[in-house]
Order: sequence, then C-alpha cells, then structure tokens
Amino acid sequence: CEVSQWDSDEPIPRSELLKGVQGAHGLLCLLSDKIDAEVLDAAGPNLKVISTMSVGFDHLALEEIKKRGIRVGYTPDVLTDATAELTVALLLATARRLPEGVEEVKKGGWSSWKPLWLCGYGLSGSTVGVIGLGRIGMAIAQRLLPFGVKRLLYTGRTAKAHSAEVNGEFVPLDELVSESDFIVVSCSLTPETQGLCDKAFFSKMKKTAVFINSSRGAVVNQEDLYEALSRGQIAAAGLDVTTPEPLPTSHPLLTLKNCVVLPHIGSATYSTRGVMSALTAQNLLGGLQGSDMPSELSF
Ligand code: NAP
Repeated sequence: CEVSQWDSDEPIPRSELLKGVQGAHGLLCLLSDKIDAEVLDAAGPNLKVISTMSVGFDHLALEEIKKRGIRVGYTPDVLTDATAELTVALLLATARRLPEGVEEVKKGGWSSWKPLWLCGYGLSGSTVGVIGLGRIGMAIAQRLLPFGVKRLLYTGRTAKAHSAEVNGEFVPLDELVSESDFIVVSCSLTPETQGLCDKAFFSKMKKTAVFINSSRGAVVNQEDLYEALSRGQIAAAGLDVTTPEPLPTSHPLLTLKNCVVLPHIGSATYSTRGVMSALTAQNLLGGLQGSDMPSELSF
C-alpha cells in the first residue's frame, strides 16, 4: 500500500483530512475524526473501506457510508477489559472522593483523622444500575459484583440472556434510576440515548446516588448534571467522556468537588492501544483486499 499518514498524536486538522483523503481506497481514522458526507465526497469513488480505532462509531455518518457501499471496521472486544477497569476505578475514585483526598494531602488540609471527614459511599450492600449491558457494561458488572453489590439492575432495548451471569434484573429506566445507589452509563450513543441523562433523569435519582459515564459525553445533558450536582440533588458524578472533548478548563463542572472528570482514557493501557491499532490496520487491509475483516461493523 501507499500510505499517507498524519504523523502526530494530535488529531488531524479537518483541512488536512479533506486534502489527504482525496483518491484514497482506505481510511484509518480515530473517534475524534468526524467522517461525514464532506469527507466521503472529498475521498471520491475509490474509497472502499473505513477502519476506525474505536468501538464507538457515532462519529461515522453510517447512512452516507452505506449509500456509497463502503465497508467499516471497528475494534470491539479488545478494549472491553481496559474500559471496564477504568470505569470501576472512576466509580471508586468518585464515590470515595479520592481526588479530593489527594488534593487535601497536598495542600495541607489533612489536620487529623476525623470521623466524618471525606466520607463517601461504598459498594457493599448497594444497588447498581447499568444503562446498556453490552460488552463493556457486562465487564463492569462482573468487576463490581465482588465488592458486595446486592442488586444489579440494567436497561437496554432488550433483555440479555448473558445478564444471568451477574444476576442482572432487566427493569424500566425509571425504576433503575430511582432505585440505584450507583448508575453506570455504558450504552452506545444513538439518537435514542442522546441527552438521555437530563433534568428529569437526575431528579429521579437518590440524593445519595453516584452517577458514572464512560460511554459518550452526549448521552448526558451537562447543564442539567451541573444543576443536580451543585444543588445536592445527587451525590457525585464521574465522567470519562464529555461534550466537547476536551472539556474547556473554564467549564462549570470543573469547579465542583463532587465531579470527577477524566480525559477519555477508558481504553488507555499500552497493551490495549497496541492491540487496537493492530486490529484497525488488519480491518483496513481486509477491506482493501476485498476479503474478510476481523471486526467488520454490520449496519
Ligand atoms: P455494545 O456491546 O454494543 O453495547 C452497547 C449497549 O448499549 C448495548 O447493550 C445496547 O443494548 C445498549 N443500548 C443501545 N441503545 C440503548 C438505549 N436506548 N438504552 C439503553 N441501552 C442502550 O458496545 P460496547 O463495546 O459495550 O461499547 C459501548 C460504548 O462504550 C461504545 O459505543 C462507546 O461509545 C463507549 N466506549 C467508551 C470508551 C472510553 O474510553 N470511555 C471506550 C470504549 C467504548 P441493546 O443491545 O439492548 O440495544
């Protein structure tokens, strides 16, 4: 293959992408690259395959891609463990107020052992609600159960047979929201899930409940989340994903002690990123050769 590469860890500027993609037969992209009609038109009729180094594909205009008969490769499974692990770390860090504690130690706020200082919420005996018990949601549930979770609720479009492995109870969204001590969002971003976690959602949560999102930022209405957190309507939130990304340093959510924001690092282990990049390249090659792609998206 003749390879034209944007050789930087920073995202390719849109203008460079539109220029560089012209006449290409294959395109390897990241979740930060919006692949829409403009990019597809710039590429022209040669384009046979798009391979994204992500399991999420909300940055791809699938309708337009389908119209042009272009195949799509993505990276499911290989990042499931790393993302689930990070989500559990974020949940614990948020619920047990780790960033606040670290900050207090550094700035001299640690005066003594005090009975109620930096108290948070524990998983033992709790009810956990998972929104989207897919690959990552399931791996999160499997990791949380050994902490002594009492009930595991989940929602989705359909009940899942695999939920039996984690004693998962398929419940309506409202029930999950009002009964959970911890809510973990791990669904894909679709028109139905966009803005799912809004004012009405947060108002149904327990005051002591912790909200965690490691799916996509747009599932959450951030203004409504800010209101809920700042008014004490919910206890805390941990976000690995935001809108936009990066979240501006002036964003109101970053002023709150009960909000922990990470820079979209769910799959960021050295080995996972290595496997993801190899799979992305194999998908691309399969598409270029017109043969099997190890992970082809059906849409
Ligand atoms: P997956 O196996 O396809 O799971 C997606 C889940 O979303 C499915 O269980 C699906 O349930 C559920 N879902 C779809 N529509 C829903 C709705 N309206 N309400 C509730 N649930 C709904 O995908 P995955 O591999 O677990 O990945 C999930 C998402 O995680 C990706 O799409 C990506 O956005 C995100 N992600 C983030 C990171 C990170 O770094 N933070 C890393 C990897 C992935 P049904 O089958 O019932 O529709």
